[in-house]
Amino acid sequence: MSDSVSIAPATFDRFGLHHTLIRGIHAAGFETPWPIQVETIPPGLDGRDVLGLAQTGTGKTAAFALPLLDRLLGERRKGPRALVLAPTRELASQITEEIRALARFTRLKMATIYGGVSIHSQISALRQRPEVVVGCPGRVLDLLQQGVLRLGQVETLVLDEADHMFDMGFLPGIRKILGALPDRRQNLLFSATMPKEVRGLADDLLKTPHVVELADMAPATTVKHTLVLVAEQRKHALLEHVLTQDNCDSAIVFTRTKHRARRLAARLDQAGHRAVGLQGNLSQSQRDRAMRSFRSRHHNILVATDIVARGIDVSGVSHVINFDVPDTPEAYTHRLGRTGRAERHGEACTFVTASDSGWVRATERMIGSRIPRRQVEGFEPDVNEKPRRPDGRARNRPPHSARRGRSHRRAG
Ligand code: AMP
Repeated sequence: MSDSVSIAPATFDRFGLHHTLIRGIHAAGFETPWPIQVETIPPGLDGRDVLGLAQTGTGKTAAFALPLLDRLLGERRKGPRALVLAPTRELASQITEEIRALARFTRLKMATIYGGVSIHSQISALRQRPEVVVGCPGRVLDLLQQGVLRLGQVETLVLDEADHMFDMGFLPGIRKILGALPDRRQNLLFSATMPKEVRGLADDLLKTPHVVELADMAPATTVKHTLVLVAEQRKHALLEHVLTQDNCDSAIVFTRTKHRARRLAARLDQAGHRAVGLQGNLSQSQRDRAMRSFRSRHHNILVATDIVARGIDVSGVSHVINFDVPDTPEAYTHRLGRTGRAERHGEACTFVTASDSGWVRATERMIGSRIPRRQVEGFEPDVNEKPRRPDGRARNRPPHSARRGRSHRRAG
């Protein structure tokens, strides 16, 4: 789908980026540009719109950040000139950190704005007239409507994880934000998948975009993934088995609900594991603390829900364990993307019960291959098991295949 394929430059020097950015790239430890950067940076520098079909972990932040920063350095003008919208606070913070690292030898300023934390510090950050604003749509709109954030000088707009923003019901807010931007601007839209609503947004937004397609709905080949059939009530014992037998250096364990993530983290902690929970009911500072603790390996097990874990970049996660299957087949690939990153090898193990058979079929259809089954001795599924709700009561709703509804929780 990409309309031109550049010859991969051996180093970043050949893009002709501003020398301060080259220093930042070296300081960040990047040696060779990754495919998405090879494909995105040249058209980005030419001022073209870009549609990037790529997941987090591919290097897309630097792919959009470098052309954006290069443009900002071409002219000394303060105030928001680049706006990056991201679905979650964690992703917004991560993007700002990466942009800050790449721009560390420049004088450009950044502000991150998202809900769930005091608005005052964000207002004072905006008073510093940062050139780059990274934020979640809810709070951006809020500050825009309060007149604190002025977007009339924005030259580059980035929408990151557009599909996730749609999942979270942010598209109407984004369309309002677009109304506050000047018509003449560069647009860079990244999305791992292309539901029709995101396609519609891309069609409205992008003018003859350069299309970069890296999204592969199959999990990365660096991830060995398996399904383990298990009865719902034996999942805890199976988890204990997998955590201890599989040499899990660090694992992200996914649950279906916030409540289950909280309870499971507490249970693992009581059982002597170094586990921490990350779910949407935590305050922002609790979430930040949990992420820091997992990144620093103080805790080596992170129990999370999809909403907070998507897009999070943690290097060296050895295992992803799906304690509950995700709501959609697409989310499976996103979850597995938390391991096997940057050429490292990872393992993913999904616990499936008899009632998940519809989900298994839909997921295998999506990724185009059968997921290997793993038999764990002592954890054979009970063929007579009735479909059950996670709380153990009989399930009274259709199986997964028939309820691929989108979540509409908001991040801020
Ligand atoms: P992203 O997809 O933007 O979340 O990037 C995933 C991770 O790869 C981040 O930790 C980046 O800092 C890192 N990264 C991005 N590009 C490169 C590169 N060319 N060389 C080495 N690391 C990179």
